[in-house]
Amino acid sequence: MQLNYIANASQPSSSGLTIAVVDPSDGQTYDQIQRSNAADIDVAVGAARQCLEAVWRKLGGAERGRLLMRLSLKISERVDELAAIEQRDCGKPTKQARADAVALARYFEFYAGACDKLHGETIPYLDGYSVLTWREPHGVTGHIIPWNYPMQIFGRSVGGALAAGNVCVIKPAEDACLSLIRVAQLAAEVGFPAGAINIVTGYGHEVGDALARHPGIDHISFTGSPPVGTLIQQVAAVRHCPVTLELGGKSPQVVFADADLDAAIPAIISAIVQNAGQTCSAGSRLLVDQAIYEPLLERLGEAFEKLRVGPAAMDLDLGPLIRQSQQQRVWDFLSDAQVANIRMVAHGKVVDEAPESGFYQAPTLLRDVPPMHRLAQEEVFGPVLCAMSFRDEDHAVELANATHFGLVAGVWTADGARQFRMARRIRSGQVFINNYGAGGGVELPFGGVKSSGYGREKGLEALHGFTTLKTVAFKHG
Ligand code: NAD
Repeated sequence: MQLNYIANASQPSSSGLTIAVVDPSDGQTYDQIQRSNAADIDVAVGAARQCLEAVWRKLGGAERGRLLMRLSLKISERVDELAAIEQRDCGKPTKQARADAVALARYFEFYAGACDKLHGETIPYLDGYSVLTWREPHGVTGHIIPWNYPMQIFGRSVGGALAAGNVCVIKPAEDACLSLIRVAQLAAEVGFPAGAINIVTGYGHEVGDALARHPGIDHISFTGSPPVGTLIQQVAAVRHCPVTLELGGKSPQVVFADADLDAAIPAIISAIVQNAGQTCSAGSRLLVDQAIYEPLLERLGEAFEKLRVGPAAMDLDLGPLIRQSQQQRVWDFLSDAQVANIRMVAHGKVVDEAPESGFYQAPTLLRDVPPMHRLAQEEVFGPVLCAMSFRDEDHAVELANATHFGLVAGVWTADGARQFRMARRIRSGQVFINNYGAGGGVELPFGGVKSSGYGREKGLEALHGFTTLKTVAFKHG
């Protein structure tokens, strides 16, 4: 039985209710988490506030940095343990689960170094005045986390918030809590004061909603789906609470005829099969110069047929999807493709060892997907790559920008001037030229435009979002 972790202590929910923890590889329940409620959130926010006022505010940046660094080192020692927890909880192949744990350590390492380097400015003003700015923490920050990359998103969001001097109340996704409970315990072991990191588990519409509404939460960092992002904004607007929204994507990979296909092909595949396609920044739309459309699809088709899906512990190209409803969602998209006569180029294979009760989906390559079809517009959040061709650069830009999303884009071309033009013209938070970084790069500011959200996490830029700027003007004559 997993308990909440509040003020460095394991605590049951006052509801007395629990939620089953299911292994996506075989569909079997193997643990329980707390189904917490608004009262539990109240306790966690109170513990965080107490920590902020009594301890955390008084620590210098260097001291906070040392704590974050100690946690980074502790996580690095425990990569195998954390990866094993995540593998079973989320169905991640070993390579992916380990990469997530390593990234978590890296986030705390990066933000440890930033704690004592966040400073304001002096501003030239009228004669007889001195003006300066201070970057101040919001106070108690709320973090609502999705199930696809719990450790990575905790690292970037909570790591950045703590570095900026905030204390945190975290609501992990109901499907993926176990690794984060363990990380909070490790933080206590390395000396984080009680109340700096608090984990409260449960359903989004219950405990997530209670967190977003709580008057003691001074900033909300939400990572998840656009519809829930809208709800969070509405709830936060009532009390003018600042929000960072990291939402979904339908990110294009644009391949010109002069591209180095030997480099592009593995990156295109990994950008859609990574984490079984359950990645906000998955490269899920493939836009190809008509001159190389057929040969590229042929090569990709051959590669897709070799992809293997199976239980997470087999460490194949893909593990299962997170849950049965996610599997059903992907099936619904694929049956819509059939209805619209969208052709399948190729698909991978679910291995015979995969239990029938697991949530498996073979990676699938579709071609000539109409740009306005829901397959080209909405997040499938599964391993489905939608290919279409373009005539020229203008057409490529038009297609790249033709969704409500704007999170990440990849451009593959040898033409230097075109690289810059494309990077300028594509509307998204990140553009990768001749590479693709789904989720990678702790140092690289990340976030969206349009329905992909606003605000930035990762990199030093995140620290601006986790602080508020105070301007102080002295008149001294
Ligand atoms: P989701 O929106 O259903 O849930 C995200 C979190 O919000 C969960 O913790 C959930 O419990 C909580 N939640 C749900 N309803 C809530 C409510 N009414 N009030 C408060 N909290 C609530 O998303 P998901 O299915 O867990 O994750 C997939 C989505 O997340 C995709 O759209 C994906 O693109 C997006 N995502 C974005 C990023 C990014 O950095 N931009 C990263 C990962 C995932």
